[in-house]
Amino acid sequence: MPLRVNEARLWASLMASAEIGPGEAGGLARLALGDADKAMRDRFGEWCSDAGLALRVDAAGNMFARYPGREALPPVLVGSHLDTQITGGRFDGILGVLAGLECVRRLAEEGIVPRRPIEVVNWTNEEGARFSPPMMASAVFAGLQDLAWLYARTDASGRTVEAELRRIGYLGAAPVGFPIDAYFELHIEQGPELDARGQKVGIVTGGYTALGMNLRFVGETAHTGPTPMDRRRDAAVAAAHLAIAVNEIGWQYAPLGKSTTSRIDLWPNLPGLLSARADVTFDVRHPDRATAAAMFERGRMAAAAAAAKARCTVDELETWRFGDEVFDAELIEGLAAAAAALDIEPVMMLSQAGHDAYYVSRVAPTAMLFCPCKDGITHNEAESCSLDDIVPAANVLLNALVARADRA
Ligand SMILES: [Zn+2]
Repeated sequence: MPLRVNEARLWASLMASAEIGPGEAGGLARLALGDADKAMRDRFGEWCSDAGLALRVDAAGNMFARYPGREALPPVLVGSHLDTQITGGRFDGILGVLAGLECVRRLAEEGIVPRRPIEVVNWTNEEGARFSPPMMASAVFAGLQDLAWLYARTDASGRTVEAELRRIGYLGAAPVGFPIDAYFELHIEQGPELDARGQKVGIVTGGYTALGMNLRFVGETAHTGPTPMDRRRDAAVAAAHLAIAVNEIGWQYAPLGKSTTSRIDLWPNLPGLLSARADVTFDVRHPDRATAAAMFERGRMAAAAAAAKARCTVDELETWRFGDEVFDAELIEGLAAAAAALDIEPVMMLSQAGHDAYYVSRVAPTAMLFCPCKDGITHNEAESCSLDDIVPAANVLLNALVARADRA
């Protein structure tokens, strides 16, 4: 008989989390390493010790709650993130951590001790809303970045990740990165497909390729009145041209392709002045790697054209990519088998968002599960899931997790 999570307890945990760092409209504004993030981490730690789990915090602030196995083998990891966007929902990331916790609570109740330990993980700063880039701590875990890089990242007020980890008491002693057997992550879909189809479980086979860039247009401040049009070097104009062009690229590759200018930071950004500087972030996404690369190249050319139109210069500050990983076939098979045992027909799908699972997949077998969220609304306080949306995928997670941890 397949195991089943305790629905009421899982829901109660999610709703208790929803009280910590509330936003203005029913969601959450629990930015990484802020006071609310600390309060949620503390609460998660209490729940873990109540469940008899040993908690470890690594030097990147990642939290690992260990459910012991029968043998001293590398653990199976399960989790996600407890931080949110500034206009975050109550489920994005949080579900993955608290469903992982619910899984080990159930195992403890049933007296099931699998061969391998299971560790529930909360990754630091998945969202990248306060400290850029997203998924920075799983990147260090996977050896893609080093700790010095993570520590030096700053928020808009100049505070560093290191100082904030220390301030909230989550600059842990454990080294970042260790051998693991596998990683599972349950997440809300963050798109409308499952909800529209009335399907409850998506097995994620990989991701859309996402390519992004931070760039800076440099112009010159001048008076908005007397400065003749042909003498202006207005970085705001360059940024605006780029935002329009990037949007057009998305339309040209729609519906699969998407592109966004998500951030324009002007300086001095005051009335009466032309902008001397515009820091811009854009990204493109497509399920086909080569097409994503072509879209990105067009974005890069659009930046050069936008700079020329506004008589500015442009500098590429940083580029990144994620999502073109393919998840582990054996874990995917395990998830499908767990779904079948529960009489659930899963949808095989790609993720269009960023997840810590991508980076972890570089160092260990990894797979993800999706559950629906209402109308696909996310990164919005209106993000909503019912217990009915969550429980089927949580049950699949529980059974696949224990099967993996117990395998010969
Ligand atoms: Zn998330």
